[in-house]
Amino acid sequence: MVLADSPSGLRADSWSAADGAALYGLDRWGEPYFSVGARGHVMVQPRGDRGGSLDLVELVRELQGRDLTLPLLIRFDDILEDRLERLHGAFERAIAQYGYNGRYQGVFPVKCNQQRHVVEQLVESGRRWHFGLEAGSKAELLIALSLLDDPDALLICNGYKDRRYIETAILARRLGRQPVVVIEQADEVERIIAASSALGGAPFIGIRAKLSARSTGRWGSSVGERAKFGLSIPDVLTTVERLRKAGLLNDLRLLHFHVGSQINDIAVLKDALQEAGQIYAELTRLGAPMGFLDVGGGLGIDYDGSRTATAASTNYSLQNYANDVVATIKECCEPHGIRPPTLVSESGRALASHFSVLVFDVLGAGGHSDSEALPPQAEGEALILRNLRDTHAVITAIAAGGSVDGEDGNERAVVERLQEAWNDALKFKEDALTAFRLGYLSLPERATAERLTWASCQAIAFQLEGLPTGTVIPQELQALPAALAGTYYANLSVFRSAPDTWAIDQLFPVLPIHRLDERPTRLGSFADLTCDSDGKIARFIDRGQVKPLLELHNLRPGEPYWIGLFLGGAYQEVMGNLHNLFGSTNAVHIRLAAGGSYRVEHVVRGNTNAEVLEAMEHNPALLLERLRLASEQAIGRGDLAISDARRLMAHLRASLEQTTYLEA
Ligand SMILES: *Cc1c(COP(=O)(O)O)cnc(C)c1O
Repeated sequence: MVLADSPSGLRADSWSAADGAALYGLDRWGEPYFSVGARGHVMVQPRGDRGGSLDLVELVRELQGRDLTLPLLIRFDDILEDRLERLHGAFERAIAQYGYNGRYQGVFPVKCNQQRHVVEQLVESGRRWHFGLEAGSKAELLIALSLLDDPDALLICNGYKDRRYIETAILARRLGRQPVVVIEQADEVERIIAASSALGGAPFIGIRAKLSARSTGRWGSSVGERAKFGLSIPDVLTTVERLRKAGLLNDLRLLHFHVGSQINDIAVLKDALQEAGQIYAELTRLGAPMGFLDVGGGLGIDYDGSRTATAASTNYSLQNYANDVVATIKECCEPHGIRPPTLVSESGRALASHFSVLVFDVLGAGGHSDSEALPPQAEGEALILRNLRDTHAVITAIAAGGSVDGEDGNERAVVERLQEAWNDALKFKEDALTAFRLGYLSLPERATAERLTWASCQAIAFQLEGLPTGTVIPQELQALPAALAGTYYANLSVFRSAPDTWAIDQLFPVLPIHRLDERPTRLGSFADLTCDSDGKIARFIDRGQVKPLLELHNLRPGEPYWIGLFLGGAYQEVMGNLHNLFGSTNAVHIRLAAGGSYRVEHVVRGNTNAEVLEAMEHNPALLLERLRLASEQAIGRGDLAISDARRLMAHLRASLEQTTYLEA
């Protein structure tokens, strides 16, 4: 029952910042980067548990002072670095624990977040581990080639490859890079052979195997016989023979597999590892030098902190993952006397999710605010309205009676009286509607009837909250808090900033970043700025489940209400689109500095209206000129004053220069 056992509640009694942290799960998914401070603000610990903390609300305020308007994407580069350290730390511990006679050497799959400052940061921070990059297209290859200058780092080349892609990789080897061209389609081997003989040198070669291992979840179809990428076992053998004949078997160094993103259940990974380990051993027996086993992506994120094998979570930790990779591959190699390979992972989501926080403001809220006053009683008010008023009074009197807890059976009596009052209220509301249809009630009177009904609904919801846990509450009454839910209008496009919430029902933690020391008194969901009914956030994390409504606060006049969307650093930005021509948001890179302060390292301005218009082949200058001509004509007809024409042109020019979102 939503009211009784949710910590949220709709009652405005005692509530602390710790309650806020528990309600929104920060103590589960936020660890160690996000928490709630004593003032009820979200606090960011960009270096995890190594000290230092920033007040997110203060930070947003100060960034706004620099003209960085909301919605604002804040990237904490320290978090990115911390994630890298954790990933490497986990593998180092596993390697030590199992006495694995090999190393770990990761790569970042560029497709996860191609932003220049992000990739640059990863390359820079990853230098001490020779951390590399993975490219899945020609454009990503260009990024990887230009940014990755460490000769010991791996440059994994995945995706569809034409002759130019392959030749580029071969020549990159002569630049001192370590490109590994991974054969994903059976016909690629011929192109590699042709390019190698033409250039008189080969790239390092890898093979992506299609595993038969089962998988689950949204990306389950990334494995199995019908997967889009990878070679079947017969194709693997044919490819090895082709390479041998062409004298390139000596360049076959890597086996790759990828079982899909966000592996929820560790059992799926274990099966895949065993199968891949055996294939690896076979390839060395066939005479390939090998040396690298690339376990792909899939390392998941616990978005809801439930540590379950559900879509928004994982039933394993980063350390469990590293342990399983290391232990399983060791088991596959040791009995055969095969030298354990360097372990490679292409962990994108696990590295890039935490570091960015999207903050947006709420423009207004629809629905029924609990602070609305009862409509004043008019002289000679219609009987139907008086009935509704009396019903409301009856409900609040039950509240005033107070002695709800106490003797046994008392709760049941209270519930019965509430149910009865609610039945009355519904009946009177029906009567009011009928009277309106027949012309006996005016529009203002009908409005009063509706407001009185909602007030009764609210009063009942408040009453139910006060009942002890476990009280049996009829379905109809249980549904009342949801009926009272409001729509919060967000200065945001989900299609631009959180497209996976719309495209694949992905859950992200979403919560107010302030007022967490104040009990939220409403339930609501978010509607975005687009004219699309899909443009909404109406699914929220709920410890392994999903809830359609989030506990929120009443808006206060003249005060902003800021919402944060967390763990969205992977995939969201590039998948976002220009629906309704909402462009990219402002973005900043923040670094923790000495003495609890911070540095704004980079500012990436959001798209202006002019930019999104140009993306659709419109010409802003031409657009202005057309409207200038139209206003001249209107001035000529005497329909438009010159001063108004100037104002109109000023608005148009200013709009072209501004971001696509609403001004505060
Ligand atoms: C997408 C992808 C990845 C990244 O997966 P994550 O689950 O984000 O770690 C890695 N490798 C390949 C081949 C991919 O297609």
